[in-house]
Amino acid sequence: MSRLLEEFQQYLKKIQQYEYAVNLLFWDVQTKTPKLGQPANVDALTYFSTEEFALSTSEEMGRMLDALSEPKEYENLDDMWQFIVGRMKRDYDRNRRIPAEVYETFVRAKAESGNAWVDAKKAGDFSIFAPHLKKMIEMRREIAGYTDPGKEVYDALLNEFEEGMDSATIDRLFEELKQGLIPLVRQILEKPQPDDAAFRVYTDADSQKKAEKMLLEYIGFRMDAGALGETEHPFTTGFSSRDVRIANNYHEREPLSAIFSAIHEGGHGIFDQNVNPDYDQTVAGSCCHMGIHESQSRFYENILGRSKNFWMPIYDKLGEYLPQFREIPLDDFYREINHVRNSFVRIEADEVTYCLHIILRYEMEQAIFRGHVPVEELPALWNKKMEEYLQITPENDSEGILQDIHWSDGSFGYFPTYLLGSIYDGMYLEAIEQELGSVDEILAAGEIFKITKWLNENIHWYGSTRTPKEVIEAVCGKEVSAEPLLRYFKKKYTEIYSLS
Ligand code: ZN
Repeated sequence: MSRLLEEFQQYLKKIQQYEYAVNLLFWDVQTKTPKLGQPANVDALTYFSTEEFALSTSEEMGRMLDALSEPKEYENLDDMWQFIVGRMKRDYDRNRRIPAEVYETFVRAKAESGNAWVDAKKAGDFSIFAPHLKKMIEMRREIAGYTDPGKEVYDALLNEFEEGMDSATIDRLFEELKQGLIPLVRQILEKPQPDDAAFRVYTDADSQKKAEKMLLEYIGFRMDAGALGETEHPFTTGFSSRDVRIANNYHEREPLSAIFSAIHEGGHGIFDQNVNPDYDQTVAGSCCHMGIHESQSRFYENILGRSKNFWMPIYDKLGEYLPQFREIPLDDFYREINHVRNSFVRIEADEVTYCLHIILRYEMEQAIFRGHVPVEELPALWNKKMEEYLQITPENDSEGILQDIHWSDGSFGYFPTYLLGSIYDGMYLEAIEQELGSVDEILAAGEIFKITKWLNENIHWYGSTRTPKEVIEAVCGKEVSAEPLLRYFKKKYTEIYSLS
């Protein structure tokens, strides 16, 4: 190993220590820190992340990355180190092009915008948030001009969350889905809906936690490399493949919510636990492509978790922890977990209408960045699209345009990754059935571990090292298409709702 590489690795080790502290503080503040202790935690968190940022953007870092990128050094690196150096150099160069004062203004504007969003949502008053949203849009445009000169702004934003994905491809995929889903949803909503009262009974958090642990272990989340906690909004954070933490929320009257959040986060967690351990704590590790990551959580949550056969081997066990399910036949349970509703809120949506919630947001972002629609006109545009896609109109902006946090911190281009994840899932499902046989049969036999192993070997192992398009090409052998997902929806819901 060259002296330069050794020096670089030592330097990365130092950054990793800061990153570890940041992760730990973040986990702690989200799950355990008492209210009065929060400010001290946030101080420490800010300190360590500022130090980490300074180390990763330092002159010294730049010098090492430049030297390692010289052909005579670079050619001697193995594949993993070539990836790490290439990726870090790219990010370093992009970040260095942002003038420090612009970045500082952005950080401050983000904090103010976040506060304004909370107030606006509480008051149901878009006008409180509007000037901040305008600022975030302007600043994202400006920053994209530095990081991705010459690139169309919205494409640059999409790329931050799903590398190599462009709006031409997303347009094609989403349009295909929209054409198929709008009539399907209309047909479903004309049918009688099941009574869900039996599912909203009081369930204490401890019982929900026990059910969660059983489910996580069942799908393949390893508890010797995992920890569980309680929080407001469920999330997963991976320190390395050996330490992955899942936090969940337990609503006393909505036990199904915690169950499906657990399966969803479990999918993220299984991904993080099964990345090649050589990549631990480097940019090659925990997958940075949000669509690919989301494809794993949503595969477990929806494709597997919302099928009847998933529950066959474990439904009795679920009834041991949550006794109300002993009274409910599996068929009724299956019916309820696939209950399609036209509701206002994305995060409460079923797997079918969820797609339309995302398409709406994608089209709004297009209207903002391509159509230059003024901020003041956005709420009306939102409501018009809700009416068109789900035949409902929000009563106020809190259950309309103000419901999500994403735009308040400038994360434009993030929403589409959720739906890309589901589109990839339709394709994986086909690939798995071709290689392993019927997923329904595998699940009914209680052999979900076979599917988890397939995902481990074909997707998880590679971490961040393949772009989304490369993953799909390698796993499915074809270009990304929404057709398999649409086929899955049509087949499943025609049966459930007896559609003609
Ligand atoms: Zn997720």
